[in-house]
Amino acid sequence: MTFYGGIEGGGTKFVCAVADDQGTILVRERFPTEDPASTIQRAIDFFTRYQTEQNITLAGIGIASFGPVDLNPASEHYGYITTTPKPGWQFADFAGRVQRAFPDIPVGFDTDVNGAALGEQRWGAAQAWDAFIYITVGTGIGGGAMVNGKPIHGLIHPEMGHILLPMRADDPLDRGVCPFHPNCLEGLAAGPAIAARWNAPGETLPADHPAWDLEAYYLAHAIEAMMCVLSPQGIILGGSVMHQQQLFPMVRQKVVDLLNDYLKHDRLKTFEDVIVPPGLGDNAGVMGAIVLAMNAAE
Ligand code: ZN
Repeated sequence: MTFYGGIEGGGTKFVCAVADDQGTILVRERFPTEDPASTIQRAIDFFTRYQTEQNITLAGIGIASFGPVDLNPASEHYGYITTTPKPGWQFADFAGRVQRAFPDIPVGFDTDVNGAALGEQRWGAAQAWDAFIYITVGTGIGGGAMVNGKPIHGLIHPEMGHILLPMRADDPLDRGVCPFHPNCLEGLAAGPAIAARWNAPGETLPADHPAWDLEAYYLAHAIEAMMCVLSPQGIILGGSVMHQQQLFPMVRQKVVDLLNDYLKHDRLKTFEDVIVPPGLGDNAGVMGAIVLAMNAAE
């Protein structure tokens, strides 16, 4: 039996897990994201404890991290979280700390959303797709894109949460909440934008609240652009905001309306099986980290 460790490093919480080579989670722990040193150490302690208790050595450890991150192995900041607005985490070394704690174990590193996309491809909703996008809508918004079965890194990595959108005239906000952009997707549609706009956290708003029509409007504009740029076979919408299941039919209908019958394909008539929730639910991120561990071990 081979064992793999995965860390889903989010801006709000960390999830660590050990899984076997079938992807069965054997142990899992979740804790809040505090400062980099103590939070990453807690993840390291989790794996050390499991290895000691079970008398095994992990074959690989995968890290799927919030970002932006440096994914260029030739860079002096490889494995770092870079320009995040999250206090204390600017230029925090993440993969390096884990690698130094486990010098003999290969460590894989990618964005949280590329990780989730890998998890969905191996075990979730994207098993039949070789070009698709995974978007998380939570405290922030990020997107991971897979093309020809591989995550896109490119120059840095995609930052789909920061594409600019037209603000709707009836939006109660004067501008989005992103410190960098007045009208980007994350600043208009992530959890903090919903809370700022309606003076209440999204999870406390009823399903028929006008918040959701506006939320669907912004998500649909972003997805219309993604459909045109990448021609994905599917778009997986995960993250805490997407626990609002009523958003799915609203987003699909608005994407259909925005595309205005321009893209011709049977699957795009309703987007019913194109815009979908994660097959792995809230485990997509940590399962993606397990895939990163498997890839690093190969
Ligand atoms: Zn932004």
